[in-house]
Amino acid sequence: MQITVPKNVRTIIETLEKNGFEAYAVGGCVRDSISGTVPNDWDITTNALPLQVKSLFRRTIDIGIEHGTVKVMMGRDGYEITTYRIDGDYEDNRHPNGVTFTSDLLEDLRRRDFTINAMAYSDRSGLVDPYHGREDLAAGIIRAVGDPGERFSEDALRILRALRFSARFGFEIEDATKEAIRQLAPTLSNISAERIREELEKLVLSDNPDRLRWAYELGVTAVIFPEWDKMMECEQESPHHFTDVGDHTIEVIKYIIDNYSDIPKENARILRIAALLHDIAKPVKKFRGTDGADHFTGHPEEGEKMSEIFLKRLKYDNNTTDRVKKLVRYHDDCPEPTYGATRRFLVNLGRDNLDDLIRLKYADLYAHTKYRWDEKMHTLKTFEEMSRKIIDDKDPLTVKELAVNGNDLMKEGASSGPALGQALGRLMDLVLDDPAMNDKEKLLGYYRGDGS
Ligand code: ATP
Ligand code: MG
Repeated sequence: MQITVPKNVRTIIETLEKNGFEAYAVGGCVRDSISGTVPNDWDITTNALPLQVKSLFRRTIDIGIEHGTVKVMMGRDGYEITTYRIDGDYEDNRHPNGVTFTSDLLEDLRRRDFTINAMAYSDRSGLVDPYHGREDLAAGIIRAVGDPGERFSEDALRILRALRFSARFGFEIEDATKEAIRQLAPTLSNISAERIREELEKLVLSDNPDRLRWAYELGVTAVIFPEWDKMMECEQESPHHFTDVGDHTIEVIKYIIDNYSDIPKENARILRIAALLHDIAKPVKKFRGTDGADHFTGHPEEGEKMSEIFLKRLKYDNNTTDRVKKLVRYHDDCPEPTYGATRRFLVNLGRDNLDDLIRLKYADLYAHTKYRWDEKMHTLKTFEEMSRKIIDDKDPLTVKELAVNGNDLMKEGASSGPALGQALGRLMDLVLDDPAMNDKEKLLGYYRGDGS
């Protein structure tokens, strides 16, 4: 087995070897190279101790020397070199209470999580693959190294990593590994919000969002995202829907994957999280109407609140939280088809959220039955056309964009204070109905005659 190793990595490995040490590329970079994808980064493992590594390279950064990791800089690129190690006993299903260095590569590979991640490679020794990771990679299987129950008990984060890698590569999870996930899912309560956020987000950003269903079936989301279990369990007896809320959500994400794969990364991130949460409040808002169908009146408003609670619990940043909340809040509404109403809708939504909202609305619509399809599509297209024209025409949507400001009004005799804000608000209202009014003289003329 031959892997093409980048020049810098080859130089690092050869330097270590020339000085009497062993060195290998290891983990994700070996996995990705074998499966024919370009690795994000190259990690190196060696029997040299951290100080020995530091003595051999000109530019190094101590990034985790107590865990055996030194970063070697080659030009602008950094490479993490970690001494072969054995993790000590684990506390709290998460933290090894220390690491010990070892001189045996096989011991280092044994502490790694999955067979596909436990391979090492060097040009000198070829592929070192004691757990048959290459076979699992070819067969599409996530399998724990050694006893899965032990491995997940050591570190519960591995439970989420198993689902995440399975979602990223579209792999199955081997039976015993799956069973151990089911048994040990409750220990995920020991994992920090930040780590759960990272893993859950990677899962949602993957090409296989149906793994969210697996996460439910294995009892994982019951611990980290109980709102999701409610969604999976929320049937919709309605002509608009053919599945429960959870599976509908997965369909929406699939539509996004199939149709919006080329949008900027940050939009893709916000859009997927919003898609995940858009119907979060349906389970609590569900009621059976006199027509015999289920209704979910008020779910966007409640969904905005529940999304905020969820995103704060996972310690999401404010910008993500604010944008996702807006998309959840407005995913189900279109304004009445007038320019005035559409401009006001955009004021509430925020201009910058429009593209993502339109994408979410199409994705949501396509994940519905064809009931009243033409009417719904027409409403959405009308909204899209009108709102895009408003944005293209740069119609003012905020007080800042008005042709007059508070100073201009004070020159006209207005006093500062709440009344000034109200006067500007009235001018804003005027301009929202008629952008042609956004002219200094016209607005001042209106203000003079406003009288109130
Ligand atoms: P990615 O492409 O997502 O970076 P990766 O396999 O490189 O995938 P990392 O999280 O960067 O994943 O970890 C690098 C390697 O370290 C893994 O391939 C695995 O061998 C090992 N590893 C990482 N986290 C754990 C863990 N929690 N338990 C055991 N081994 C782990
Ligand atoms: Mg990596």
